[in-house]
Amino acid sequence: MAQSVTAASWLRPAREQLLAAVQQDRVAHALLIQDAPGAGGTQLAVWLAQLLLCATPAPQGPCGSCAACRSVAADRHPDFTRIGLLEDSKQIRVEQARELAAHLALASHQGGFKVALIDPADALNWNAANALLKTLEEPPARTVLMLVAQQPSRLPATLRSRCQRLRIRVPEREPALEWLQAAVGEGPWEAVLDVIGNAPLLAAGLDPRAVLQIRDETVGGLADLAARRADAAQLADAWSRTELALRLACFETWLTERIRQRAGLGTYSLELRDGTHPDRSDPGSNSLGLFDLLDQLRALRAALATPVNRSLALESLLRSVVV
Ligand SMILES: [Zn+2]
Repeated sequence: MAQSVTAASWLRPAREQLLAAVQQDRVAHALLIQDAPGAGGTQLAVWLAQLLLCATPAPQGPCGSCAACRSVAADRHPDFTRIGLLEDSKQIRVEQARELAAHLALASHQGGFKVALIDPADALNWNAANALLKTLEEPPARTVLMLVAQQPSRLPATLRSRCQRLRIRVPEREPALEWLQAAVGEGPWEAVLDVIGNAPLLAAGLDPRAVLQIRDETVGGLADLAARRADAAQLADAWSRTELALRLACFETWLTERIRQRAGLGTYSLELRDGTHPDRSDPGSNSLGLFDLLDQLRALRAALATPVNRSLALESLLRSVVV
């Protein structure tokens, strides 16, 4: 995928902040990048690794083309280590964290920085997080440990408190579309972002036609359910088998649209995605029920990474659509 992080305009303030820190030699030993889905936290971390290791940095950042920049991007640089989820595992294991800490403790191959990336850091299990504490308490000289997490609250407070925070926000629609067109090419991106939210890096990894097909199927299933032509248990079972995360995103979009219609808020917008609810006291509708449903749906989406009984939780949600 031809994804150029430098083209992601919404990351510019974060890049400038990091660039200034590196140029003034005050880059944090531990950086916690709080990412939003598909907003580019990982790409920003890789950019910083390139910046720290680049052989010929430009005033505005890494050159992107020297051997060091290319090997960081390809995950082959001897002074850049990256850990994440292995295969189907939902957790980063203690052995991975120990290995990373040991790597940071060694002298760098090229006399410069040693850089490590943990992504998604909110998947560190308790032991793995603890294995990193010593590295954070007594960081070796010229080391930078980056953690990218969408839910930093899942990390132990002892670990969080030792990191400098950098928050990446969801981009606006326009820059998200511009980036997708530049990085991936023309496509029905507007419709895709309507489904998944303004998550351009996520959209770039998806097949737009497949996304829209799942949207149509999901919305069709919900319409059948509301008209009592479908059964909640069967629908929950079918959804749980494939593309559940995407189907739940479609469900949230569908629900949000219904709430807006009932509240007379006119055309569909993604504002509700920010978690703010318009006036709940909307008379003459059962919006309160819909808001409760929306809250439960969001809780289920947030819990997808944990071993919940998805089918049962979903079935209970879908039953609420009918009443
Ligand atoms: Zn370079």
